[in-house]
Amino acid sequence: RWSSYTTGYGPGAPDGRTEAEIAAAALEDDLRVALATGRGLSVVYQPIVLLEDRSLWGFEALMRWTHPTRGPVSPAEFVPIAERTGIIHELGRWVLGHACRQVAEWQQSVPDDKRFSVSVNLSARDLDQPRVVDIVLETIATAGLDAEHLVLEVTESALVDPDLAIPALSRLSEAGIRIAIDDFGTGYSSLQYLTQMPVDILKLDRSFVSRLDGTPQRAAIAEAVVRLSQTLHLGTVAEGVETEEQAAELVALGYRKGQGYLFSKPLGADEVAAKLITISSH
Ligand code: C2E
Ligand code: MG
Ligand code: MG
Ligand code: MG
Repeated sequence: RWSSYTTGYGPGAPDGRTEAEIAAAALEDDLRVALATGRGLSVVYQPIVLLEDRSLWGFEALMRWTHPTRGPVSPAEFVPIAERTGIIHELGRWVLGHACRQVAEWQQSVPDDKRFSVSVNLSARDLDQPRVVDIVLETIATAGLDAEHLVLEVTESALVDPDLAIPALSRLSEAGIRIAIDDFGTGYSSLQYLTQMPVDILKLDRSFVSRLDGTPQRAAIAEAVVRLSQTLHLGTVAEGVETEEQAAELVALGYRKGQGYLFSKPLGADEVAAKLITISSH
C-alpha cells in the first residue's frame, strides 16, 4: 500500500509531528518500496561537453523517481529525505551500479578515442561510511568500467570533516577515480582543503553562470574559480549553461567544459544510445 500524503490532521498529528514531517515519513516509506522493487527509479544522463567544439566529454548521472500516485518527485525533494534517514546509502549504491553498468556497455559501442566518463553524485553522508570506498571499487570492477572513466561528485559539505574525507578520497583517487567538487562556490568549507585533498575538477555552481551578463562585476566568482583551478592544475566544468552568451563568456574566462540546457537536458538511456550511434560514426 502506498502511503497517503494528506493526513486530515490539519496542521499536525496528535503525536506532535508537523504535516511536513508526516509527508516526509510517507515519502520515505514509498522510497524504500521503490528501492526494494526497483519500480519508479531510473537514471538520466546529462552530457558534459567541451565548450570549444561541443563534443562529448562525459555524462552526469542524475537520479529520477516517479512516484506511483504523485508522479515525478524532484531529487531536490527526495535526496534530503533519503540523507536524513540513511537510505541514501542504498539509493546511492543503486545509482552507481546502474550508471556504471550502463556506461561500460555504451563504451563498447564507441571507438577507443571517443571514450567518455560518467559523473556520479556521492552524498556527503556517504563519506562517513567506512565501506564506501570498497563499495565503489567493487561496483566498477563488477560493471567492467575503468576507474579513469568514473568521476565522483561531492559537495563542499562532504569535506567539512577532513579526517573522514581525506582517507576515503585518497583511496578513490589512488585507484584512478577522479573527484569533482559539485556546486563549487556555494559551500562554507575552507578553501585550504583544496590543497590537501585529491580533488581533480571544480564544478562552478550554476548560480554563478546565470549571473553572467558580460560585466566584470557579475563574472567575479566565475573568474576567481577558473584562476584557482589554473593555479592548482584542476579541471573545471561550468554548470547550468543556458544561453550562447553565457557559453561565450565562460570560454573567454577560460572554462573548457560545460553542462546545461543549451547543450542538452538530461536524457533517458534510450536517447543517449541513439546519440552515441551518431557520434561513433563520425
Ligand atoms: P547537481 O548534482 O548539481 O546536478 C545538476 C542539476 O542541475 C540537475 O538537477 C540538472 O538537471 C540541473 N540542470 C542541468 N542543466 C541545467 C540548466 O541549464 N538549467 C537549470 N536550471 N538546471 C540545470 P536535478 O537532476 O534535479 O538534481 C538536483 C540535485 O539533486 C543534484 O544537483 C544533486 O545534488 C541531487 N542529485 C541528483 N541525482 C542524485 C544522485 O544520484 N545522488 C545524489 N546523492 N544526489 C543526486
Ligand atoms: Mg552533480
Ligand atoms: Mg552540480
Ligand atoms: Mg548545482
